[in-house]
Amino acid sequence: MTEPADPPAAASTDAASTAPFQYQCLARDVGTDARRGVFTTPHGDIQTPTFMPVGTQATVKGVTGDLLRQTTATLPDVTAQIILGNTYHLALRPGHELIRQMGGLHRFMNWDGPILTDSGGFQVFSLSALTKIDEHAAVFRSHIDGRKIELTPEHSIEIQESLGSDIAMVLDHVIALPASTEAVIDATERSVRWAQRCLNAASRPDQARFAIVQGGLDETIRAQCARDLAQHAFEGFAIGGLSVGEPPPEMYRVLSATCPHLPEEKPRYLMGVGRPIDMLEGIARGVDLFDCVMPTRNGRNGFAFTDEGPLKLRNAVHRDDPRPLEANCPCPACRHSRAYLRHLFVAGEMLGPILLTLHNLTYYQRIMHQARQAILAGTFSELLQRHRQLAGADKPEAV
Ligand SMILES: [Zn+2]
Repeated sequence: MTEPADPPAAASTDAASTAPFQYQCLARDVGTDARRGVFTTPHGDIQTPTFMPVGTQATVKGVTGDLLRQTTATLPDVTAQIILGNTYHLALRPGHELIRQMGGLHRFMNWDGPILTDSGGFQVFSLSALTKIDEHAAVFRSHIDGRKIELTPEHSIEIQESLGSDIAMVLDHVIALPASTEAVIDATERSVRWAQRCLNAASRPDQARFAIVQGGLDETIRAQCARDLAQHAFEGFAIGGLSVGEPPPEMYRVLSATCPHLPEEKPRYLMGVGRPIDMLEGIARGVDLFDCVMPTRNGRNGFAFTDEGPLKLRNAVHRDDPRPLEANCPCPACRHSRAYLRHLFVAGEMLGPILLTLHNLTYYQRIMHQARQAILAGTFSELLQRHRQLAGADKPEAV
């Protein structure tokens, strides 16, 4: 195969020298810890708070890059949309060497916006048959072919540098909850040591490294982990190991205990969260970035998010409903009736999941836009309150 001239991977390296990673806070909310900011990357400026659609296998399922860009096209403040790729999945198939050979992940999937790749830590512990974990590495068997693989912090960074994402996540030691305090401390301290090893192994100046705070549901361990990680030169900080089955108020409590120990001048990313109300509660506690499979996965299953509450399109009540999902939504799904969308799902047509995915992503991006506008206008608490009522939270958590 002939390699075309000027691959984008080289261009992005050049861009990095003039566009370093930088977080700038533009405004703070008066009543909460919410903040409106901009995070600069080689592939564009991310307006925060923001939601990152999940593109596990180098694709947001069923959605082309052009369609994905349409989900933020009517939002005047969005200059670049960031998506998430998955190190574990891409390293197993098609393999990071192949993606590097094809010009990197941006070129491979034809996405010119920012990309964040996770480290593989969560998938190793949740998807694979984990055989051993020690100070050196996690050893596991592939969920695809049973092949035995050793993943070290250094290898995780090497894979992510091959993929060429804008933001690489450090490899962390994820454990199932509930766990004993000793087990949580052991995994958390290992996660801090592994984060340092990731930083030491990193070589790409055009790739940011985000550390991951662990510590289960223990506020003291979380705070200590955040302080330990904050001493190192990471470009951003994530909060991991949440939204794994604990009640939402528990997650909010841990966020309140963690965020104050993270540097003000760096972005904060709450991993794998979540429902619209969870994102707004996270924003209220100082979180800037979110990712979740919920809008895409639920969309594929016929579940639409709306400001009036969720709609299950398979329900017979929508059989002859001429209304769109939402009257003022600019997405392609809302050019159709609920009756038509229901028909697509009942008939098993692939357009149904595609359209609902686009609607839900548009809805999530609209919520983030409303949050950004509300922080600037000093009305974020009202937006939060409205969504607490929508989510049926009759006893709102104190921020
Ligand atoms: Zn819509």
